[in-house]
Amino acid sequence: LRSGVEQLGNMIAEAACVVPFTGAGISTECGIPDFRSPGGLWTRNRPIAFDEFVASADARAEAWRRRFAMEATFAAARPGRGHRALASLYKAGKTPAIITQNIDNLHQVSGFRADDVIELHGNTTYARCIGCGHAYDLLWVKQRFEEAGSAPDCTICDEPVKTATISFGQAMPEDAMRRATELAQHCDLFLAVGSSLVVWPAAGFPLMAKNCGAKLVIINNESTEQDDVADLVIRHDIGETLGPFVGN
Ligand code: NAD
Repeated sequence: LRSGVEQLGNMIAEAACVVPFTGAGISTECGIPDFRSPGGLWTRNRPIAFDEFVASADARAEAWRRRFAMEATFAAARPGRGHRALASLYKAGKTPAIITQNIDNLHQVSGFRADDVIELHGNTTYARCIGCGHAYDLLWVKQRFEEAGSAPDCTICDEPVKTATISFGQAMPEDAMRRATELAQHCDLFLAVGSSLVVWPAAGFPLMAKNCGAKLVIINNESTEQDDVADLVIRHDIGETLGPFVGN
């Protein structure tokens, strides 16, 4: 690990523009389970696809029940060493913005301006109407859900209200995809942190950065399909790996 951290430190020092790209693995030390590890969310529940959510009131109710069951976990989570190390790069001016697949809002809490967190899969800490996009507080949804026993619809356009996340089968957010593409194409160091790199199109960004001339570093405790093309692979715990960069 020490030599990996040293190499990473040198690569960061040499780079003018470092773009981090994060997945659920950066938040496991904050108490939020990832999808695919043992004990991960998918080992418990099959995800509800967007079409099912739209078509079925039962699916909507189930999606909201699952979300409310996670509320204490999300509410208690605080940024970990990985989040804080990346926020340090941002404060130091090395990192213009961060690309994340995470929906937990922890990069914003760690010090990134909301505008500089490019959320490919949305955010679970608030809700949106799937028709007009109007934003709702989760507490508002919870109160309506408890009163009516079913998931609420938008007060403006009557379409279903869903967490502001991107489900399987749902269109990717265009603006986030465009900004992530620009960052991947123009950085000189791309850090893929805590992602199994199997969810597409998100998993295309590390390859895109590499193909455009950036160095690619993968930090993950299990192997990924892109390890072969990376300039440095640190197959270790994220908190321990990035801990030395907190506050630098
Ligand atoms: P993933 O679950 O597929 O992969 C996470 C990876 O991180 C795994 O390879 C795992 O071995 C590794 N990992 C876990 N803890 C680690 C640690 N402490 N140190 C080093 N590595 C660690 O997650 P993904 O690639 O982000 O993709 C799947 C989707 O999961 C995304 O779409 C995201 O929206 C969603 N998701 C997000 C959260 C969150 O916001 N925190 C939580 C669960 C799922």
